Amino acid sequence: MSPTPPPSDVGETRRQAALDAHALLDTLPERAFDDVAMLAALLTGAPAAGLALIDQQRLWFKARTGLRQQELTGAGGLIAHAQAAPRELLQIGQLVAGEHLDTLPLLVDGRALPCCIGVPLLADRQMLGLLLVFDTAPHTLSARQNDGLHRLVRQARQLLALRRCVLEQRNLLAEREAFGQRLEDARADMQRRHDQLAHEATHDPLTGLLNRAALDHLRSDPVSQEHFNAQPYALILLDIDHFKQVNDRHGHRLGDLALQAVAEAVNAAVRSSDLVVRYGGEELLVVLPHTRLDGAAEVAERIRRRVARVSSLPFALTVSLGVAAGDPARDQPEHVFERADQALYRAKTSGRDRVVVDDSPLFDG
Ligand code: GH3
Ligand code: MG
Ligand code: MG
Repeated sequence: MSPTPPPSDVGETRRQAALDAHALLDTLPERAFDDVAMLAALLTGAPAAGLALIDQQRLWFKARTGLRQQELTGAGGLIAHAQAAPRELLQIGQLVAGEHLDTLPLLVDGRALPCCIGVPLLADRQMLGLLLVFDTAPHTLSARQNDGLHRLVRQARQLLALRRCVLEQRNLLAEREAFGQRLEDARADMQRRHDQLAHEATHDPLTGLLNRAALDHLRSDPVSQEHFNAQPYALILLDIDHFKQVNDRHGHRLGDLALQAVAEAVNAAVRSSDLVVRYGGEELLVVLPHTRLDGAAEVAERIRRRVARVSSLPFALTVSLGVAAGDPARDQPEHVFERADQALYRAKTSGRDRVVVDDSPLFDG
């Protein structure tokens, strides 16, 4: 924790914060503020005037006329003088270097402006600045001029209040936009998580293929049912040969890599409209819509050859495949699957590393 500043510093911190809240320091000139400075000079007949903000030890002119300087640095003495009686008219008959200013840089047409009259600019009960009128000789204000200067300061206060309003509105708007953005981010995040969960629920993490739950869902989903039911389709059932030996000889990790390699080979051999499902441990099912038996047999042979060519493993792999086709109008899907399974069984028993096509009568009786 930083140490608590002494009371006078607390007041100054609060005052500076009130000034900073207007975000006026070091901004470009604005017509409304310029008018206040110009009217102050016209009203008093002085050669120079300015609306100064008290920023630490400097006076920074938001508006000025007759003054070349944008700011008076080292004006701590003048500021302290004004702050000593913040509700009174500041009248300095003779600005003295060292007492009021570190230097006396105020010049107009080469003449020094050592005399100054100031009306405090109060806002949020803090003295934020001064409306200053400078002259070459001590200047006494008439009652009407005095009244006029105070009215001008009132206008300046209104300008500050307006500025606060605009800033607050802008902040509110920014907060609303930020809130809207956070809401949008949260919605996108939820969607991402939802998609991820949906993906995890329907895909096998090892191979990235659809899992059996996804297949069951597709089979019970009316939209996909319609898609498949209207078409002749084919099924390919694939089983890796002697996979248990692969695990036993080369370890489970290489067994996993082999499974991934087979999944890649199958994916590369089928169309994007075909579904590849990890049906069991090392058994894959390919559903090929719009496909007859001979077309599916070609795809199965393509898969077999691709797997045999896999070169990323330190051993050769072969697969056995059973192919069957069905007409949804006449065949029960379970029967088509059963025929593909029997064909696969025959591929295994007749020597493995081959495609066997179902040879039973095409349609259920
Ligand atoms: P066959 O040629 O008759 O199919 O013989 P096989 O050894 O492939 O058949 P079996 O069904 O006896 O063995 C399948 C093996 O697949 C056993 C099991 O450990 C392995 N397996 C199943 N899932 C995974 C897996 O996710 N990773 C690995 N590494 N192995 C798996
Ligand atoms: Mg096997
Ligand atoms: Mg098996």
